Amino acid sequence: MATPSDRAVWDTLLDAARRVHRAHPVLSGFCAFPTDLTAQPVTRTRLPAADLFATETGLYSDQFAELRDAFVAAGSLANWQEAYRDTDIGQDFRQRFGYYCLIGENGAFASDQMRAWVVYMPVHLWYTWHHHPAEEIYLTVAGEAEFMRQGAPDVVLRPGETSAHASNQPHAMQTHDHPVMAYVIWRDKFGGPLVLSQH
Ligand code: ZN
Repeated sequence: MATPSDRAVWDTLLDAARRVHRAHPVLSGFCAFPTDLTAQPVTRTRLPAADLFATETGLYSDQFAELRDAFVAAGSLANWQEAYRDTDIGQDFRQRFGYYCLIGENGAFASDQMRAWVVYMPVHLWYTWHHHPAEEIYLTVAGEAEFMRQGAPDVVLRPGETSAHASNQPHAMQTHDHPVMAYVIWRDKFGGPLVLSQH
């Protein structure tokens, strides 16, 4: 059972995400913020990236400081996920890449309308090419990263900027001298797998 204070942390985060999402024309045009949300219990897990996230100092953001801080605060309560567990994605990625769910499986809220996660990458980390059936948008909340999409120019995205990925369009990310925190949403095909691309 979550304690009332845990639930308050999640509610604060949800409110911050809702405000940012609804105020952002690209996000709200892609998918309306869910109206069917229900709270669900979260099993806490800890991965190495969660500790890096808790002590990260490089996530600059003026306009989204409230959402950034809410994602950090909930990080100590979250079910951190291990991506690509059964692949050869590499030790550095396993040790330093982090994400947890806000809305969806393992997240603090359930919805049939949308999925939402936070993704965190420390400096100088490569997230190799991957794809999935779901249509997706990344919003850079804090820090910055270089975003790559098959068929599009590589771009460095800073707070407020987005990268949209069509169904099964391969994409990748690289952090350079700054870490990045991104709010990631799916609007459909929720069950689909994450697949490493042959690129
Ligand atoms: Zn993706």
